Amino acid sequence: MKCRVCREKAVIDIRRHNAAFCREHFIHHCRQQVVRAMEKFDMIAREERVLVAVSGGKDSLMLWDVLLDLGYAADGLYIGLGIGEYSDASHEKAAEFAARREAHLVVVDLETSYGFGIPGGARSVRRAACSACGLSKRYVMNDAAITGGYDVLATGHNLDDEAAVLFGNVLHWNMDALVRQRPVLPASRGFVRKVKPLIRLGERETAAYSVLNGIDYIVEECPMVEGNTGLRYKAALNELETAAPGTKNQLYFGFVERALPHFEQLGAAGGAAVGECGRCGAPTTGDVCAFCRMRETAAPSAPRGAEGSEPELDPTP
Ligand code: SF4
Ligand SMILES: [Zn+2]
Ligand SMILES: [Zn+2]
Repeated sequence: MKCRVCREKAVIDIRRHNAAFCREHFIHHCRQQVVRAMEKFDMIAREERVLVAVSGGKDSLMLWDVLLDLGYAADGLYIGLGIGEYSDASHEKAAEFAARREAHLVVVDLETSYGFGIPGGARSVRRAACSACGLSKRYVMNDAAITGGYDVLATGHNLDDEAAVLFGNVLHWNMDALVRQRPVLPASRGFVRKVKPLIRLGERETAAYSVLNGIDYIVEECPMVEGNTGLRYKAALNELETAAPGTKNQLYFGFVERALPHFEQLGAAGGAAVGECGRCGAPTTGDVCAFCRMRETAAPSAPRGAEGSEPELDPTP
């Protein structure tokens, strides 16, 4: 197996590209895939301030690493989910990376700021843990980006993630989610722009990039992952990908290029009016946003988080 570029010994092959790369050219290839995605979908302008949501995992740390290497003003955001040792270990990985890259990490701890962690929050509103977690992360990411004056929020969703979410959304014909499943979600009243620069890279590539660059990421799975339907969809797509390399790429980019414009038209025609949450002021279609409803049930006497406290800033520069 030889590198496609220099013909030296390759360290990885990427079947959907029918190509193999040595370390140096693989790293270059990954950066180029990020640049291509960002250019094609107009994700981030040169002068903009970026907040990168980092979980301590390979994808988000890789994304932060690449954006810093490309010269973007990119800070990290770590959200403490209150999931015991898993949260402690993932915080440690994010903080270590920030220190190594001399980058700035914003930390928001759910328990400190809002009075509940994911296990308790999910129990109190009888939601699946991953659903309560997704809701909380979306809320805190948006709030931290707006409060911190960032232009754009970047997340580390890769091709495998996006293809699996799309697969699930199509299986259930979840129209609202399909309308929103875009590489770039533009800013709107109360919402910061959200971008996904890793959509051209598979999970195997983000893991290899991280290992080859000495990025120490959390390998353990979150203990609450059991029952996460996304994993089933990923497993099914992995089988299809093994039989026909390029399947995930075809599914996801076929959707983005050919189907999404139709869904966007449907979305523009309908949709409930967005107002402000009576508790926190965040945009919502109801009187009180879903996050505040969960917070009030899980921790009725806790402070209101964003209103009562600024996000804690890590001491790293
Ligand atoms: S597995 Fe579920 S609960 Fe755990 S971090 Fe992911 S979304 Fe949150
Ligand atoms: Zn090479
Ligand atoms: Zn609210």
